Amino acid sequence: MQHVRQHYIDGDWVDPLDPTLLDVIDPSSEQLITRIAGGGPRDVDRAVAAARKAFPLFSTTTPPQRLELLRAVLSEYERRREDIAEVLSTEIGAPFQIARKWQLALAELRSVIEVLEHYQFEELQGSTKIVREPIGVVGLITPWNWPIGQIIMKVAPALAAGCTMVLKPSEVAPLNAIIWSEIMHSAGVPAGVYNMVQGEGAVVGEAMSAHPGIDMMSFTGSTRAGILIAQSAAKTVKRVAQELGGKSANILLPDADFESAVTKGVLGVMRNSGQACSAPTRMLVPAERHEEVKRIAKSVAEGLIVGDVRDPKTNVGPVVSKSQFDNVQRFIRAGIDEGADLVTGGPGRPEHLNRGYFVRPTVFANVHNDMIIAREEIFGPVLSILPYRNEEEAIDLANDTIFGLAAYVQSSDLARARSVAARMRAGTVHINYTAPDRAAPFGGYKQSGNGRENGKWGLEEYLEVKALLGYD
Ligand code: NAD
Repeated sequence: MQHVRQHYIDGDWVDPLDPTLLDVIDPSSEQLITRIAGGGPRDVDRAVAAARKAFPLFSTTTPPQRLELLRAVLSEYERRREDIAEVLSTEIGAPFQIARKWQLALAELRSVIEVLEHYQFEELQGSTKIVREPIGVVGLITPWNWPIGQIIMKVAPALAAGCTMVLKPSEVAPLNAIIWSEIMHSAGVPAGVYNMVQGEGAVVGEAMSAHPGIDMMSFTGSTRAGILIAQSAAKTVKRVAQELGGKSANILLPDADFESAVTKGVLGVMRNSGQACSAPTRMLVPAERHEEVKRIAKSVAEGLIVGDVRDPKTNVGPVVSKSQFDNVQRFIRAGIDEGADLVTGGPGRPEHLNRGYFVRPTVFANVHNDMIIAREEIFGPVLSILPYRNEEEAIDLANDTIFGLAAYVQSSDLARARSVAARMRAGTVHINYTAPDRAAPFGGYKQSGNGRENGKWGLEEYLEVKALLGYD
């Protein structure tokens, strides 16, 4: 079996000093694709040393110089799009045609370029000059669910800010990170500016969080890991930006177009096999429309084609791993045990599939907000439908969660939708399923995190602010 090269440090591919082996499994076939050598604390030390060495020079580059670099990265990314779609299919089980059309990462890169084209790093306030400077060496830890996209959401603004960095990608999607590092290399990113160490979160991620040579951690992943990272980072008073889990409410007001609102709501949950942090997983519907919603949701979920990720007709691939499959199965059984109505789906694989981590698209109705399936993030293709009696109760239920990443409201009356949106406690509120806006801030309230990615807010995460008093 071929062992793929591992860490990218100081502009080169290097063998790990603390080697461990990471299995890369194709979730469609449950077959081992390859093994990647992960690293340990000494590899982190080496990557941090490279990033520290590169910082003094890179931090003094001008925005036009960094723009040139980001444009080179963009064109390399465009050149590698087919390889990226391939690896998204084999490594995380994304349907190939969906992965091919996937524009999020490109849109993200273009958006960071646009922000940097206009961003003012300096301003005069009376006789004081305010200067925004790169924070230093940043540690970036990413999850697997949109692996290369989540890497870009951190690396691109950090580069735009003039930081140098160490990335630890998800151990579940290491091949995505290898392609990304090849892109950075062929785009001509100077040695030491961008470094990548593969490995386990509890080992490599922990070593980064505690490392005195790292000035800031930016993390996307579960609330559980986010807490551990923040605890380790506290010892060196690092800034920690966290993009964590979600359990987003989707309020369907009585005047919404239900055929469309329910259909889009179901598809929004099933997308990427339910592995999306801001999926609208709690659909809140007027009690008197509950039966109608169940009927529409059932027909949409049952119309989805689950299976072969190479078949262009497939809508839903497997979930990413055995442990993810087992978790989702546990939640589905909990929903049944707690007495929610199983509208469609349920435990086990779809009948026509005898291997792979495929989950049946599942809809529960008559869900109460205190049930496990309404409170915890499932991260699988499972929708919970909750009835409400009036608008006030809908808003209370929507906000009655530890999470606050995204929220959704559907109505044909924009003024009413706006007034409900204003009362929803979440970092992003979608009114009538709008298209993503890469220039808008993205991040969570409550235990969905702190800090914001995207737009000028994403860039500012990686900047310190200096006040020069008596400057003028
Ligand atoms: P995870 O928390 O298990 O892992 C994420 C990353 O953290 C991985 O690279 C992992 O190796 C690392 N990690 C784990 N434990 C660590 C530790 N103790 N110290 C340092 N690093 C550690 O999450 P996942 O299963 O990869 O991803 C799914 C989660 O990510 C979901 O909760 C989802 O909601 C969340 N997510 C959030 C957003 C967002 O923008 N808010 C986006 C995508 C995914």
